Amino acid sequence: ARGLTKNFTLRGGLFGRRRTLNAVDDVDLDLFAGQVTAIIGESGSGKSTVARLLAQLQRPTAGSIELDGAPVSVRGNKELRRYVARVQLILQDPFASFNPVHTMGYQLRRAVRIHSPELTPHQVEERVGQVLAEVNLTPARQYVDRYPHELSGGQRQRLSIARALTASPSVILADEPVSMLDVSIRLGVLNLLARLAAERNIALLYITHDIASARYFAEVAAVMYAGELVEGGSAEEITQHPTHPYTRLLISAAPDPDRPAASGPLRDAGAPPNLADPPTGCRFHPRCPFVMDKCRTTPPPVFPTGQAHWSRCWLHETPAGTARLAATPLN
Ligand code: SF4
Ligand code: MG
Repeated sequence: ARGLTKNFTLRGGLFGRRRTLNAVDDVDLDLFAGQVTAIIGESGSGKSTVARLLAQLQRPTAGSIELDGAPVSVRGNKELRRYVARVQLILQDPFASFNPVHTMGYQLRRAVRIHSPELTPHQVEERVGQVLAEVNLTPARQYVDRYPHELSGGQRQRLSIARALTASPSVILADEPVSMLDVSIRLGVLNLLARLAAERNIALLYITHDIASARYFAEVAAVMYAGELVEGGSAEEITQHPTHPYTRLLISAAPDPDRPAASGPLRDAGAPPNLADPPTGCRFHPRCPFVMDKCRTTPPPVFPTGQAHWSRCWLHETPAGTARLAATPLN
């Protein structure tokens, strides 16, 4: 994606004024086959909107999307179906994505037929068995006759992954795929997604508010704040050597058994901004302990902060600023 931007028009409020909410602003994002990329952000940061734009559920206000180097322009249902077969979206709540009145077998067979109309009924059944085996739901007969409510949250999420696989997608967009599941089974579902990405050469976008899980599952990561990507690089680099004050805030706020509770200057200092009226200059400036005059007036560009590592922060305009950030303890 290049320059991906999404504005929503809000009506209502005092005097029924129309306002524009800038949910996603000028996002550049590259996904690669067989690689897990994470977008990390708080709720309301715009990360789910990025997923919906990439899935063509919403049209961008500006910007472009390419798949295999060809510009994507989806007009009409036929093109949309073809695109969705390549780019599958997995949602946070697997319950909401299944029809409660049909068995899982019915819903999986239907998905297989949509993507492979040439298959015979016997082949459809075989394909259903295959995708269930890929998500470790075996034997298939234990699952196909059940209704969504008869399964656990983890089983339902595995089934929604199985359904995504019926399309043999090139890209999977997973929006908080484990945040509604019990902590004890999250790891299993994430490992499954990472394994599928590697084995089936799928480009996986993992969207999360949990920076620790991004570190373990993603190779590449970007941090989103108030509609903008503010830092990007290898997941290891940005979690071990964060170069944006907001990323440092996220890390110091995340529970980490190896570190005492956050107490220093980067402790949380407020909530994300209202995107109908974003702060001028750097959108993080009202919460930033490093704020300088320039930050209040001028949006920072992207500065390189390492190998394939970048930060949208004025501190990196000078080596002294970079050193100042690095010298400040995380908590
Ligand atoms: Fe803080 Fe300024 Fe950097 Fe924004 S540009 S994160 S306000 S130092
Ligand atoms: Mg969301």
